[in-house]
Amino acid sequence: MTSELRRYQLYIDGEFLDAEGGKTFRSANPFTGEDWAELSEAQNSDVKAAITAARNAYENSWWRHEPQRRAQVMHEFADLLEKNKENLGRIGSCDNGKLVREMTGMANLLPGFFRYFSEISDHIFGKVIRGTDPNVFSYTLREPYGVVAFQTPWNSPLVIFAQGGAPALAAGNTIVLKPSEFASCSTAEMAKLVHKAGFPPGVINVVTGMGPVVGAALCSSPDVDKIAFTGSPEAGRIVGEQAARTLTPTVMELGGKSANMIFEDADIEKAVAGVFAGFTASSGQSCVCGSRALVQDSIHDEVVAKLASMAGDLKLGDPADPATQVGPFCTAPQLDKVAGLVATAKDEGARLVVGGEKPAELGGWFFQPTIFADVHENMTIAQKEVFGPVLSVIRFRDEAEAIRIANNSAFGLAAGVWTKDLGRAHRVAAAVKAGTVWINQYRKGDAAFPFGGRGESGFGRQSGQDAIYEFTTIKSVQINTED
Ligand code: NAD
Repeated sequence: MTSELRRYQLYIDGEFLDAEGGKTFRSANPFTGEDWAELSEAQNSDVKAAITAARNAYENSWWRHEPQRRAQVMHEFADLLEKNKENLGRIGSCDNGKLVREMTGMANLLPGFFRYFSEISDHIFGKVIRGTDPNVFSYTLREPYGVVAFQTPWNSPLVIFAQGGAPALAAGNTIVLKPSEFASCSTAEMAKLVHKAGFPPGVINVVTGMGPVVGAALCSSPDVDKIAFTGSPEAGRIVGEQAARTLTPTVMELGGKSANMIFEDADIEKAVAGVFAGFTASSGQSCVCGSRALVQDSIHDEVVAKLASMAGDLKLGDPADPATQVGPFCTAPQLDKVAGLVATAKDEGARLVVGGEKPAELGGWFFQPTIFADVHENMTIAQKEVFGPVLSVIRFRDEAEAIRIANNSAFGLAAGVWTKDLGRAHRVAAAVKAGTVWINQYRKGDAAFPFGGRGESGFGRQSGQDAIYEFTTIKSVQINTED
């Protein structure tokens, strides 16, 4: 098999390079369990070289000074992403086990991010401000930070990069990007498109390797000006502690335990379909997985029966087969984690309605879509992020109780509200602790919409115009206008 391995190098200062000492690591295909790619494993010196390249590009190239030229290159990059979306989707699926159609769908979103933000690159404005002294004229400038280090997780590496990377580039920053060691190939493939698009060398650098080595070198470097981290709260805390030593600002997109609330006045068919897709898409390996279904008493049994029958019909299997609806997990430890949380739910008294096992007929890292009913809001399964296709159904009596249960979580990433009552939709949206609230829909994204969380789901915003504020800093200029 070794001779058939795809090979990827680091991308630093516009060149494809081996890591120091020629070190490499491998990526296993989650469906076959076999290694399919070999990547350069960056060491401290490689990370340092990437940061230096990004610093040079920021200080010495035209990049931060010419917004229209930046926009042209970003447009060219978007066109290349468009042409290569099928390839990026297939590679992404081999890397993380999500369905080819899911990963191609994700790749299909990429050009939109770079086009949307390329249009903003010459529309980044400061303000004119009147102070108390009439002889002082004052204005603000929004300036890029400089070198931004991005770290992405394995579930949707390219879209997650695009959400923050596109606005960071539009604002004139330069980038060092480190993907997860479990799914680096689509990012390494994207580096070839960066190379073709005409970015000045060093504007985007890609360093593949281990989180505790590459991530730590990036997060503790005094020469990185901003850190954009997406991943688990556990790794987020480590990154935050490292960044605190150099007082480097961070934006954190972390985990979730999102509540999808169905009220008795909802369109039940649509709500059930939305809640179902909300926890099974990407085999539940999604930060916005709607893993808690809050269902009003009067419709509870009907909703649970419908969800259970849909879950029982799902086809698990080869992510490349268009008939497959649920693929494997990305890693073996992820399978163990999901199986462990399901066992704990049973021990704590949650009622297993469907699933709950590793499917006997399939090898690989699969788990049956699983639904628990009679879940108490404080049970482990209702509080911990599972990152698998596991739904906890929790009853509520009225609107106030639904809001209280939804907010009984350390996380605050997203929420769903299913109701035909417009007033209720707005009341609940205002009351829930979440960065995004979807009403009568779930899991929709757009380059124009800001995205981020609260509490253990992180802080700061990527995507949308607000992301321009995230990746720029303000300079206040005050002029003495006296004679
Ligand atoms: P992870 O935290 O294990 O890894 C994320 C990134 O951090 C990877 O690049 C990894 O190499 C790096 N890393 C790991 N340990 C590190 C360390 N000690 N120092 C520095 N860097 C380190 O997360 P994962 O398992 O890849 O992804 C799943 C998690 O990501 C889930 O919690 C999920 O909810 C979250 N996520 C959040 C969002 C969001 O936008 N909020 C999106 C996708 C995934």
